[in-house]
Amino acid sequence: MITLKSPREIDAMARAGAIVGATLARLRGLVRPGLTTEELDAEAERFIRSHAGAKPSFKGLYGFPKTLCISIDEEIVHGIPSAKRVLEEGNIVSIDCGVFLDGLHADSATTVAVGKASEEAERLMTVTRQCLEAGIAQAVAGQHVGDIGYAVQQVAEGAGFGVVKELVGHGIGARFHEDPQVPNFGRPKRGPRLVTGMTIAIEPMITAGRPETRTLSDKWTVVTADGSLAAHFEHTVAITENGPRVLTLAA
Ligand code: MG
Ligand code: MG
Repeated sequence: MITLKSPREIDAMARAGAIVGATLARLRGLVRPGLTTEELDAEAERFIRSHAGAKPSFKGLYGFPKTLCISIDEEIVHGIPSAKRVLEEGNIVSIDCGVFLDGLHADSATTVAVGKASEEAERLMTVTRQCLEAGIAQAVAGQHVGDIGYAVQQVAEGAGFGVVKELVGHGIGARFHEDPQVPNFGRPKRGPRLVTGMTIAIEPMITAGRPETRTLSDKWTVVTADGSLAAHFEHTVAITENGPRVLTLAA
């Protein structure tokens, strides 16, 4: 069931989203060789909880143990922060963060290079960000979920990259994962129709090689089956009378 949000609820999600955006901006500034993913996670949790009433969305969600998902290089999503995982020069690091505030969630992800990344990695990150922008541009009342996926897929495959199919974006609100599913592939005018008051997380997961995935023995970390690099960018977006409203920007 798709739940529609009132303008007041959308404003509340934007307050949660501003904390997500500020957290990710802060972490992007901290990323450097030698830092562990556990250190990033601890800083994110401290920073989120420094805002009255705010909690990390991920901690405990389906049993996930941490505040962030941190996924490096061939890891696509759901990497678990660890004191044993040290960032190295040239890695690309996807940081995914959710915040719960006043009964509502917001969800965003970014991918950042540690020091200087390869040309291919830089192009992958640029194209994945463009995929997100193309998807957001379709988040307009009267369009369909398939228009978002189609736009993302056109940009990714047009650049010679792969679109992960097994993992998708989602509705979001009082629950972290709500209907509808928002795939990063699709056909125009197919899927649920977008209406004012819907709030969705659009999150292209794009691979430099083949798009197939597998899950590591930790039961969480999803990697590319062929070991190629992956990037992930995400925003929570509201469909409003005035077009798409991105809710996860730092204030
Ligand atoms: Mg996310
Ligand atoms: Mg999400």
